[in-house]
Amino acid sequence: MSDYDFDLFVIGAGSGGVRASRVAAAHGAKVAVAEEYRVGGTCVIRGCVPKKLLIYGAHFAEDLKDARRFGWNVPDCGFEWKVLRDNVLAEVDRLEGLYKNTLESHKVEMIPERATITGPHSVKLSGGREVTAKYILISTGAWPVVPDLEGAEHGITSNEAFHLEDAPKRIVIVGGGYIANEFAGIFHQLGSHVTIVNRSSVLLRGYDEQIRDRLLQISTMKGIQFRFNAEMERIEKNADGTLCIHFKSGDPIPCDTVMFATGRKPHVEGLGLESADVELDDKGAIKVDEYSRTSCESIYAVGDVTDRLQLTPVAIREGHAFADTVFGDNPRTVDYACVPSAVFSHPPLAGVGLTEAQAKNKLGTVKVYTSDFRPMKNVLAGRDERALYKMVVDATTNRVVGLHMIGPDAPEILQAAAIAVKAGLTKQQFDDTVALHPSMAEELVLLK
Ligand code: NDP
Repeated sequence: MSDYDFDLFVIGAGSGGVRASRVAAAHGAKVAVAEEYRVGGTCVIRGCVPKKLLIYGAHFAEDLKDARRFGWNVPDCGFEWKVLRDNVLAEVDRLEGLYKNTLESHKVEMIPERATITGPHSVKLSGGREVTAKYILISTGAWPVVPDLEGAEHGITSNEAFHLEDAPKRIVIVGGGYIANEFAGIFHQLGSHVTIVNRSSVLLRGYDEQIRDRLLQISTMKGIQFRFNAEMERIEKNADGTLCIHFKSGDPIPCDTVMFATGRKPHVEGLGLESADVELDDKGAIKVDEYSRTSCESIYAVGDVTDRLQLTPVAIREGHAFADTVFGDNPRTVDYACVPSAVFSHPPLAGVGLTEAQAKNKLGTVKVYTSDFRPMKNVLAGRDERALYKMVVDATTNRVVGLHMIGPDAPEILQAAAIAVKAGLTKQQFDDTVALHPSMAEELVLLK
């Protein structure tokens, strides 16, 4: 008999926590997971999944227009936000049910309460119960940052965007990262007047510069407005409920909704970390070693709360590796090299490996191949939107060290191509592969 109530107590039932719970339980551990809100976490409840569904919904705006050029007799169509919103939220409910079923079928005890750590092996639940566990896993994710600004309380974050009563007529999105660009595409397609307000002149820091520039060019052409190097002063709410953003310099921007997409910070408040000497790094993330172990031997942490790579599939891998290491007698770490990522902007972009600038810094000489083309479908649709694919090659070894693309289906194409980059294939091996014609992906094996 164990001296503890549980072998593993997990705090937070998001992507990382659910995977760790399920795998640890499959290895024979007695597991409980505490979740104060909903099972599924950011990705399922208020992130990747509902966002992608909104993107599908928004894309019909252009598809319906394009359809006419392909011979379809499309009458003027109206759009009802509430129908899309409610269908998306119903799908989220269904997925949450599946997550709960998975935990139940693995005999993981689900505790719908907030948990606070009270020592290296103990946790207090908001209902008053105190439980003990041989190991504790923190997988509480991250939470949107709202800048310290007068009137910031009048704004929303992406958390609330899924629940709006109506699609805003005029929305200002603050930030220039993933969420800002994805929601700009969604709301623009749904008919909102969208302005992105960014503190610097750089969108999507970390992505290849040429690809980012192409997104900016296409977004501007579509009608999304940008204000760069903008320092906000305050947000004012008018008597009629509309808002106005005032800047330190430049004209104010009137709007109906302000959405902050200014990064996400590790969710550690009120977790009781001090009671077990769990240390944070200088950015406020939980410090962990390569096995996700914190400064307290019996406490581990995975996912966004550790701020290694804030991506769902990474959190899932970390949770899985933790469970195999601690309960499966199979110590495993996560390989963070060549993790592909995508921005589901409109059009989407995706990348894996080194950008051109990173490769030059790291390798010295690199060869860069690009294909700048108008996808066949866009040509017939009369849509003047060009795709851009870019391959970065180590000039010494001829290995492909980076692939970056923007255009229709870029994330779908890049996921497959990322295998080749991860495997360290050379440009010649790409060239040796016969093109699949006609496709957009064939550009990858035809780069000159
Ligand atoms: P990002 O880190 O992508 O972007 C944050 C943006 O806000 C940057 O432009 C940043 O500017 C700006 N910013 C930061 N702080 C302030 C501030 N105080 N005032 C004004 N602007 C500020 O964060 P997001 O919120 O868009 O997304 C959070 C995370 O969620 C991402 O990092 C990503 O890991 C994940 N995510 C992933 C998605 C995907 O995989 N498709 C989709 C959505 C989210 P600067 O560049 O100058 O720092």
